[in-house]
Formats: sequence, structure tokens, C-alpha cells
Amino acid sequence: MKNLVLKSGRERSLVNRHPWVFSGAVKQLPKAENGEIVKVVTNHGDCLGYGFFSPDSQITCRVFEFTANEITLDSHFWKSKLQSAFHLRQRLIRFEHTDCYRLIHAEGDFFPGIIVDIYGPVAVVQLLIKGTERISAFIFEGLKELGYEYIYLKTKQNTQLLEQVEQGSRWLDAACPMPIRVKENGVLMEVNVETGQKTGFFLDQRENRRIVGNYSAGKKVLNTFSYSGGFSLYALRAGAELVHSVDSSKEAIALCDANVNLNQYGGTHESYVEDVFDFLKRAASDFYDIIILDPPAFAKHARAVDNAARGYKNLNLIGFQKIRKGGLIFTYSCSQHVDKDLFRKIVFSAAADSGRNVRILQQLSQPEDHPINIYHPEGEYLKGLLLEVE
Ligand code: SAH
Repeated sequence: MKNLVLKSGRERSLVNRHPWVFSGAVKQLPKAENGEIVKVVTNHGDCLGYGFFSPDSQITCRVFEFTANEITLDSHFWKSKLQSAFHLRQRLIRFEHTDCYRLIHAEGDFFPGIIVDIYGPVAVVQLLIKGTERISAFIFEGLKELGYEYIYLKTKQNTQLLEQVEQGSRWLDAACPMPIRVKENGVLMEVNVETGQKTGFFLDQRENRRIVGNYSAGKKVLNTFSYSGGFSLYALRAGAELVHSVDSSKEAIALCDANVNLNQYGGTHESYVEDVFDFLKRAASDFYDIIILDPPAFAKHARAVDNAARGYKNLNLIGFQKIRKGGLIFTYSCSQHVDKDLFRKIVFSAAADSGRNVRILQQLSQPEDHPINIYHPEGEYLKGLLLEVE
């Protein structure tokens, strides 16, 4: 195995188990291919760990194992990582109510570049960095051994692997008929892993949806960026009087309407295929008791943070202008590049501009099946605030 040698004095974050080696910290690049597994060593030749090599990226290597020892990267090694993620989920998920969850959360499960989401018998695998395709056979085999019947590969990269999987289909063996019906905290949801956004559903809002339910009885609720209606369904189940779901994608709203019909909770539900900013501008003030703001990541990369901040600020400002006296706003950001403190400052600035008194009732994050590796704070990507507006 080839060595990636760090500059003297630049090993600190690696010693602290941060899994990313930035290009500026590298003294000597290995003569290795993109995606090859390399050994990360200090300037003195001490082994720190092993990772996937990305010569063209700012993050030159993503470490999946910290150890000073030689290791054997065989089927047993990869499957035991998978099993450890599986055993954690067995402890976390209440399977009688929930059969969709994240099984592997990249760095949060010491598996950089790999995400696996479960929808009943279906495992949706995303391979996000080069190199992960080299170990994918072990992952697929391991998933089958753990009892997942169907495997769907959803990934933009690693086209070579996609070709290998099957011409024209991303199902590994048999295809599971879509959509599939799953339940989340007892709420039924139809998910199409082939055509849906991300892996089919936004599993990371499970806990936050439950919290929205706690406050929704008898209320008028606006769910912006609704996608397939996750938040709307919990509000209706809790006895909301009226729920409005808004999304610019007509496919998303079709899914949302289908899910509302499927659950038959009662209460009035109306859906709108519309840009959220336009919808909010024409919405009546002092009408909604609860407004949920869950936009897509406005900052997809670090350079986009300033624009993203403006987007979040505008959105939150209109929310503050429209919410009823005493109403609640659930506001989120899923941009990894906008951290918790920055998000809070943005929301602060929107609140200040609105001239209203605002209180933080709860600080919200991602659920336990999206664990945050303590050495990799970037993994805390979902931030939210539950606000009361006077
Ligand atoms: N809250 C959802 C997830 C939101 S994902 C859930 O709980 O599942 C973001 C959604 O915003 C996507 O469905 C996307 O279609 C929609 N979207 C993106 N930009 C938009 C805009 N400007 N106006 C309305 N919808 C938008």
C-alpha cells in the first residue's frame, strides 16, 4: 500500500481523528490512482490510518480507519463496520412504528463517502466518493446477509460501477416494485427510490416532524418546501385544522397529495405547486399559527455561503412578517457550510429586521440514525430552531 506523507506539524487534526486530510497538509502525494486506499503517515513515518485517496480534491484523503497497525482490508473488515452500524440502529429504531431509517451515515458511521438508507426491505446505497466502488461488493453482500432483500444504487459518480451493476437498471438483483409503502412514527408514506429526491425521502426530519405534531392540534399550519408532505402529515395526524403544503415541484406535490390520501387523518389539506417566496409574499399576515421553513441546502459549497445567508435571511424575514402573534416558526438549514452559529446569527438578523420579539423554544438537529462523529463536526449538517414570535 502506498503512503501519503503529512507535512511536519500538520498531523494534529488526524491525531484527533478528524477524517479529512486537506491538500495543504500533504508533504508527499502517493503515486496512487484516484480512489485507491492509501496509508496516512506522519513526517516521521508513523502510521495514523487508512483512507480513500482523491488527488484532485481539496480533501486529498478521507480516512475510514485510525490505527497505527497494519490492517487487512478484507470482506470481514468491511462487513464488521456495516454490522456495527446495523447494531446501533437495532438499538435506536422502534421498528413497530418506523421501518425507514439511515443505516450508514458516512463519516458518522466511520464510512466516508457511503450513505445507506433503508425503506422496509430496500437498501438504497449512495457511493459519494471514488474508491467506495472498490468495496461495494462487500457492502452489498453484507446488506443481503443482514436481511435487506433489495439493493438500489443511487449515485451520480462511479458510472463504471453503474455499468457493471446492470445495463439500464440500478437494482442489484431483483427490482422491488415502486413506490414502496413505509411507515415513520406510524405515519404511512409512499416512497419511490428510483424517481424521488435524494434516496426517496428526507429521513433526517423524522424527529422534527414528531415535534411539529406536538404543537399542531387545532392550528393552521404552513409547510413550505413540503416535498412529499412529511411535516404536513404529522400536523394533520395531530388534529391541525388546516395545513397548506407548498413546493415548486409538481412531482413532490403529487406525492404529498397521495400521502395525505393514504393516511386519511382529517383536517383540511391544500397543496400548492409554487415558489415558496412567491407564496409567502402573497400569503395573508396574521393567518398561520405554525410556519415550517425547510428549504433545500442553499450553500452547496463553501463559496456559496454569502448568497445562502441572504437566502436564509430573506426566507426567515418573510416568515416573521407573516406568522400570527404568538405563532411558532420551525426553521431549518441543511447546508453543511452554514454551521449552527452562523445559522443562528442569520435568523437573529431576520428577527431583528422584522421588529418582533422572538424566543427560541428549542434547538433542533438531526436524529440519532444520522450520528455525528465527534471528531468531525461538519457532520452536524441539519440545524433548526423552534421559535415563538410575539
Ligand atoms: N421538508 C421536506 C424536505 C424538503 S426538501 C420533508 O420533510 O421531506 C426541499 C424541497 O424544496 C424540495 O422538494 C424542492 O422541490 C423544494 N424547493 C426547492 N426550491 C424551492 C422553491 N424556491 N420554492 C418551492 N419549493 C422549492
